[in-house]
Amino acid sequence: MRRSQLFIKTKKQAPADETAKNAQLLIRAGYIHKEMAGVYSYLPLGKIVIEKISQIVREEMNKIGGLEVLMSTLQNKEIWEITGRWDDKKVDNWFKTKLANGTDVGVGLTHEEPLINAIKNFVSSYKDLPIYPYQIQTKFRNELRAKSGLMRGREFLMKDLYSFSRSQKEHDKFYNDIAPNAYFEVYRRLDLGDITYKTFASGGYFSKFSLEFQTLSEVGEDTIYLDKTKRLAVNKEVYSDEVLNDLGLSKDGLEEVKAVEVGNIFPLGSGYSDALGLYFTDEHGQRQSVIMGCYGIGVSRLAGLLAEHFADERGLVWPVSVAPYAVYLACLEDKPEVKKLSDSVYSELTSAGISVLYDDRDERPGEKFADADLLGMPLRLIVSEKSIAGGGLELKSRTKDDTQIVPADSVKQLIVDRLSGLV
Ligand code: ATP
Ligand code: MG
Repeated sequence: MRRSQLFIKTKKQAPADETAKNAQLLIRAGYIHKEMAGVYSYLPLGKIVIEKISQIVREEMNKIGGLEVLMSTLQNKEIWEITGRWDDKKVDNWFKTKLANGTDVGVGLTHEEPLINAIKNFVSSYKDLPIYPYQIQTKFRNELRAKSGLMRGREFLMKDLYSFSRSQKEHDKFYNDIAPNAYFEVYRRLDLGDITYKTFASGGYFSKFSLEFQTLSEVGEDTIYLDKTKRLAVNKEVYSDEVLNDLGLSKDGLEEVKAVEVGNIFPLGSGYSDALGLYFTDEHGQRQSVIMGCYGIGVSRLAGLLAEHFADERGLVWPVSVAPYAVYLACLEDKPEVKKLSDSVYSELTSAGISVLYDDRDERPGEKFADADLLGMPLRLIVSEKSIAGGGLELKSRTKDDTQIVPADSVKQLIVDRLSGLV
């Protein structure tokens, strides 16, 4: 991508009404646009980040048998009334609207009911189960407060998977092992594996606990009690002597820390499936309930968290796995020799499959250095009269003072090596 064709311009200041550091940085760097509190649009670079996170989630869900679907945003009130979740007294953050003929419709905030209703047409026998449909799409929630930028939106991108199992045992294996392992694979690929913990939290309607995935962060809205050795935590909302006892944790070993909930899985039993009439016939011809679980990951919350967590005083710092481009290539001077080398390195790298944001604009060098830092690509490559006199191009990692002059003919290999070292 040529910077001259990318319409964004960076800003020195974030809008005064934006208090969250993740959104401030992402707005200044032109990744997102703030529409209103808790509502953001993704501009080209932000869209790539969101897509890369989604793709990692998608790959890990597919590995465990997930089947991607895309559910509707508009919701049929009738099916939500059956489970009792249409009522504002039960679920207080619905956005609701009306069709032209006056019919009430909801704006999707989660999708258990419509998904059960859709798969009911196909599931009747034990041979049809288990199944694991999931989706990655925008959810709408009328959150009371939206002060954490992308980390708490009124519309936000979520992956939610729903498991439909034939027995509690089949459910438990997926809920306790398979899904959490896949979740940790996602967090590991986002460089958050070491600071993300399985956390027992309140269970909702159908069970004592749900399992959260909490990433340590000063700006987290959650307080958790963490046993680092056991890699296990308890959310403050359920923290009590009885719960610690249940989980075999002792007060002495626990640290109180702030964290961000990056995922949450719930056992649902057969409450929703029974209510909506989803059953299956077992090997003996008996009608049985379908045991469900739901498994959420906050995709856009993760984008905000990554922005906030890895940033330094100069700007964003992306893990290689989600950086919109691997390399920020800046052509520093409008001189034929400098332009020629910049252009040829740009085409060589892109042909080799290395993604490059090429700053070919007519801007001051200082501006280009500042933008390279603010935008946060893992590697920076500079071409100038000085670098050419020194023997080639100047290569530097975003987070290290490891500047080196690289001859033009070895730049591609060096970049490949550096990137693999960063993964
Ligand atoms: P929270 O407790 O943070 O309000 P939740 O428990 O209501 O979240 P779930 O319904 O479990 O959220 O949603 C699954 C995941 O979606 C959460 O773990 C979180 O990462 C993400 N998420 C939930 N609400 C928001 C939001 N308003 N903005 C961004 N991400 C969200
Ligand atoms: Mg939750």
